[in-house]
Amino acid sequence: MSPPPFLLPLLLLLTLPFPSFPSPTVCIVGGGIGGSSLSHFIRRYSAPQSNLTLRVFERNAVVGGRMATVTIAGHTFEAGGSILHPKNYYARNFSEMIGQRRPGSERSEDGDRGFGIWDGERFLLRSWSVDSMGGFPFAEKMVSLLNDAMMFFRYGFSLFKMKTFVEETVGRFLKYYECSDSRPVFETVDEMLKWSGLYNLTTHTLEEELISIGLSPLLINELITVITRINYGQSVRISGLAGAVSMAGSGEDLWAVKGGNWRMAAGLLNQSDVLLHLQEEIVSVSDLGTHYALNSSAGNSYICEVAVVATPLDEVDIEFHPPISIPKRKLQHTHATFVRGVLNPAYFGLKTVVEIPDLIGSIEDPSLPFSSISVLKRHGEKDMTYKVFSRQATEDTLLDEIFSARQETIRINWGAYPHFDAPEVFAPIILDGRHLYYINAFENAASTMETSAVAAENVARLILLRLHGGLSLGMSDLRGIKSDPTYLHSDL
Ligand SMILES: Cc1cc2nc3c(=O)[nH]c(=O)nc-3n(C[C@H](O)[C@H](O)[C@H](O)COP(=O)(O)OP(=O)(O)OC[C@H]3O[C@@H](n4cnc5c(N)ncnc54)[C@H](O)[C@@H]3O)c2cc1C
Repeated sequence: MSPPPFLLPLLLLLTLPFPSFPSPTVCIVGGGIGGSSLSHFIRRYSAPQSNLTLRVFERNAVVGGRMATVTIAGHTFEAGGSILHPKNYYARNFSEMIGQRRPGSERSEDGDRGFGIWDGERFLLRSWSVDSMGGFPFAEKMVSLLNDAMMFFRYGFSLFKMKTFVEETVGRFLKYYECSDSRPVFETVDEMLKWSGLYNLTTHTLEEELISIGLSPLLINELITVITRINYGQSVRISGLAGAVSMAGSGEDLWAVKGGNWRMAAGLLNQSDVLLHLQEEIVSVSDLGTHYALNSSAGNSYICEVAVVATPLDEVDIEFHPPISIPKRKLQHTHATFVRGVLNPAYFGLKTVVEIPDLIGSIEDPSLPFSSISVLKRHGEKDMTYKVFSRQATEDTLLDEIFSARQETIRINWGAYPHFDAPEVFAPIILDGRHLYYINAFENAASTMETSAVAAENVARLILLRLHGGLSLGMSDLRGIKSDPTYLHSDL
């Protein structure tokens, strides 16, 4: 079947050799979901005969970056990016490509003892749990109804306003999956956010947004605070957009990749014909006029026509010649502590372990030593694996108060996500006006696996467009990506 006539000039242009670089090399710093998605989309949108070389540099021995796992008692748990939203269409397609999608969040599958909101002295709210129904017929349905009623009793109609706020934000985000007839290639994060209608949410705090739409302070200071503390380690003073994204990540039908989300990065890199340089840290990037020299910690120098930074620049030490200029920002550090053992009921004012909720989230109070504690696996009644999130490192003395027994403890200090600070100021995507790109400029809007993939997809199109001499074509048209997300889902 011949292509529609309006696509012919575009097809022709994509099959032409690159005008200025016969076979350009694209060097990508970072083998996380950003760098691996970029490789995937560049290959996907390039003509097969483009002869493009892709080099990916990863300073660690494994790919995945902030998607990483820990293993305790023979079980593997997500240590970084863990949950995916049902409408994270790129991640969905990536995981299906590698045949590893698994439903359900990482919460323990061995019974459910509900969740509780902890204020340091007592549980302000405790959900009903299936276990508490003691084998009652239709227990799950009953629990769900009881919890809905309890939440409504406490927070009232604010709950519906919260749901609408999240749905509207997700709806706007879905514009990034539209076909490129209506979706431009963006050169700045501001443009990208303004086009989808998400920009204003980055100019106010979540708290301001929610108050302006009439949510009750009780809901904001309890449930929503718990959500932002669990998902971003921060208070409701994060931006409205980061807040809405974190609230979307507490809904239903969340999922993860079987064996670990890092497998998406591994799968994408495997399928994208890249030259992967593991354990090779890029220490400097020099612009040599028509190309860049990337120098690595191994003493190697690589010549690339295009250089892409696929890692936050806030805590990495890459020298740029000439220097680049980006707004100063901080990363929020989240300490993830994995404990095999059992919680101490007395710490929570309870008598028995079975009374302790499976997920405990705390309110915003600087004296509280943790943001959340969740059961990941119940090996036995007094032998479980837990994940503790906190803003500070967890000392042994603290853990010995919270836990009555500990067999194994693993601590990870993550430079986890941006410290969101509305109004956000975004770094440029094109760092030098030439071919030095920065995917993680988008991260100050929201930091998730999917937003990294969406940002990378835009950068892939931007690179190809600018290499082709500034054509205003939409690459995705050429591969049949249509505006219907379910079509996109099956097409990728
Ligand atoms: C504790 C935690 C929980 C999270 N929970 C979720 C969640 O539930 N859902 C969700 O969607 N997201 C979550 N996130 C966020 C999500 O994991 C990140 O937004 C996403 O993985 C970022 O991917 P990236 O590729 O942009 O960056 P990274 O994953 O950080 O990848 C960058 C890579 O670059 C490498 N690198 C850095 N400097 C150099 C150099 N000079 N040379 C070579 N290599 C270099 C790094 O080693 C790293 O592998 C969470 C993050 C953390 C830490």
